[in-house]
Amino acid sequence: MTAPARIADVAFDAPLAHSFSYRVPDGWALRPGQRAIAPLRGASRVGMVVAVRDGADPRLKPLDRLVDHEPIFAPAQLDLVHWIAAQSLSSLGSTCAALLPPPRADADASHERARADASPTPAPPPPELLVANGREKRLLERLERAKGPALLIAADVETAARWAQRLARIERVVRLDSGVADEERAAAWHRLRDGSARLATGTRSALLAPLPPPAILALVDEHEAAHKPPGPPRMHSRDVALERAAREPVTLLLTAATPSVEAWWRATSGRMTMAPMEPGPWPAVSVADTRGILRREPLTPPVARAIRETLAARRRVFLAVSRLTSSLACDECGTVVRCAQCAIAFAYSRAAARLVCRLCGTAQPLPDTCAACHGRRLSPFGWGAERVEHAVRRRFPAARIARWDPDAVRGARGEAQRAAAAAADVVIGTRGALRLFGPASLGLAAFVAPDQLLRAPDFRAAERTLGLVWAAAERVGADGALIIQSQNPEHYAFAAVAGQDLDEFYRRELEFRAELGYPPFKRLAIITTRAAETSGTRRLAETVGAALRGRAGLTVYPPAGEGKDRALRIVVKGDAELPRLLEEALGEFKTPRPASRGIIDVEVDPVEWPF
Ligand SMILES: [Zn+2]
Ligand SMILES: [Zn+2]
Repeated sequence: MTAPARIADVAFDAPLAHSFSYRVPDGWALRPGQRAIAPLRGASRVGMVVAVRDGADPRLKPLDRLVDHEPIFAPAQLDLVHWIAAQSLSSLGSTCAALLPPPRADADASHERARADASPTPAPPPPELLVANGREKRLLERLERAKGPALLIAADVETAARWAQRLARIERVVRLDSGVADEERAAAWHRLRDGSARLATGTRSALLAPLPPPAILALVDEHEAAHKPPGPPRMHSRDVALERAAREPVTLLLTAATPSVEAWWRATSGRMTMAPMEPGPWPAVSVADTRGILRREPLTPPVARAIRETLAARRRVFLAVSRLTSSLACDECGTVVRCAQCAIAFAYSRAAARLVCRLCGTAQPLPDTCAACHGRRLSPFGWGAERVEHAVRRRFPAARIARWDPDAVRGARGEAQRAAAAAADVVIGTRGALRLFGPASLGLAAFVAPDQLLRAPDFRAAERTLGLVWAAAERVGADGALIIQSQNPEHYAFAAVAGQDLDEFYRRELEFRAELGYPPFKRLAIITTRAAETSGTRRLAETVGAALRGRAGLTVYPPAGEGKDRALRIVVKGDAELPRLLEEALGEFKTPRPASRGIIDVEVDPVEWPF
C-alpha cells in the first residue's frame, strides 16, 4: 500500500500575508514545525512548514530538501508564533524566522534526540515581578536554586553577554544570541532541548527556545524599549514571555529597576506577583529649582559646588543631558504647553511656527503668553551636550572631561569617545552613557535639564524620565549625591527617586493613563502610509482613515506627521480586540499594491513614537 500523497504549507521570511503550498516528496517524514527549502519565485528559500495535509495537486512543485530533521518548533510553539503574528499583524514566516536559531550546518537526524516526555509537572506559580533594589541578587538566587532549565532574555547582546558571565559562576552557560557564532547558537538550542545544558542566555530571538519543565524563563529589564526594536517579531518581549507562560508550564520572572506601567498594573491587579520593595543604599537626592533662572548657565550653584567637592574627593561625575526636544514651556512657571484633549506635550515646529499634537493631530499657532501664569517667556529652551561641556571646561579646566552620546556617534569615532569617557573625571552624556558606570561607582550624578524628557511629546514621558533618573541614582554611591535641575521640582517622578519609593509614582501614572485611555487600559496602533507623491500619500491616508472609521470599537485620529520621511501617520486606539479589528478593516489593503499607490505599515502597541 502506498502512503497517501501529501501537501505542505510553507511560510517564508517575507512580508507576505499567506503561506505557499508544495508537494511533499514520497518517503519524507515531515511535520509542522520543521524548516524546509523550497522554490519561491525562481529562488531556493528556507521556509517554515506550518501545516501538512493529505492531498495531491499536479500543479504543485515539490519541496527541495529539509533543513531540520525533526520539528524545531513544537506544536505549542508554532501556535504561539501564530498568535504573535496575528497580534502584531505581521507575516507568519517573518515572525518564525526571527524566533529561530540559524540552521545547523551538519543537521544530522541521528544526533537529534528529543528529551523523554517528563511526567506531568504541577502548574507553575504566576509570573513574578522583581523590582528596584536587590532584584538581580534575587534573580540569581532563583536561577541557582532551580532544578530545571533556565533561560534568561536580555534586551541587547551586550547585556546578554554580561549575564552569561555572571551565570557562569553557577554552572556552564550556553548562548542563544548573535554575539556567538551561528553554529554555537544552533547547538545551544538543541542542548537546551535534550537537557545537556541547563542555563542559557539570549535576546528576543531566543524567546521560544525549548524549556522542558520544570523551567524558568527570566526577562531582565522588562521596561526597556529595546525589547521591541524594529523588525520581527513585532511585539515587546515582555508580551511574548507573558503569553508563553500562560500556555506552557514555565515560571516567568521579570526584573526592572522601574517597571513599565503595564507590568506594575499587572502586579497590583492580581495578574502577577511582586515582592515588597526593600530600600537599599541610596545617594542624597535633591532638586534644584530652575524656574525663572538658568538662562546663560547650564549649571546651578548647587551642581557647580557638588562637582567641585566630588572632584576634590577624587570621585567621578556624570552630567546627564538629553537631545533637544521640540516642545514649548514657560520659563517663568515651568508649565508645558499641552494638547487639551490628549494631555501630552505639543510638538513645536520652529519652521512652521505652530504646535501640533502627535497623537490627535490638533494644530495651533504659537501662544504669546503662558496660560498658567500669563508670563511671556515661552521657549523650546534646553541644554545640548556641547554647551554643557563648554561650561564645565570653563569652570574646571584641570578636570578630564568627556562627552558621550552612544546613540549619535557610532563606529571608530564612537569607540574613541567611549574610551575617553571611560577615563574621564566628568562625563557629559545621554541615557546610553550610563552603561559606563557600575552600581554605586559615581560620586555625583546631575541632571542638567530633565524637563526635556518630561516634556517629550509621548504619553510615556514620565515613565521614561523616572527610569533614567532612577538608573542614575543606582550608579551613585550611598555617600554621593544626585541633583535634579528642574522647572518641575514637585514632579512625582522626582519625588519617587528622592524617596526611593515607587508606589506613589505608579498610582499617579495609572490614574493618568486610565483617565485618558492609554495603555494598559487601551491599546494603540500607528498606521504609516507613504506614496511616491505627497498628494498620493494624502489620498492613501484618507482612504485608510475612512476604512478604519467605519469600524465600531476603534478611535481613529486624523492623519498627521509629515516629518522627514514624508509619511502620514494615523493613530488608532482600541481595546484588547484592536489587532482583529485592524485586520478586518485593513484587509483590502493587504493585497499586493502597485508601488505608485503606496505602502502601509501597521505598528501595534508601539513603544516609541516614530515622528
Ligand atoms: Zn507660566
Ligand atoms: Zn491631542
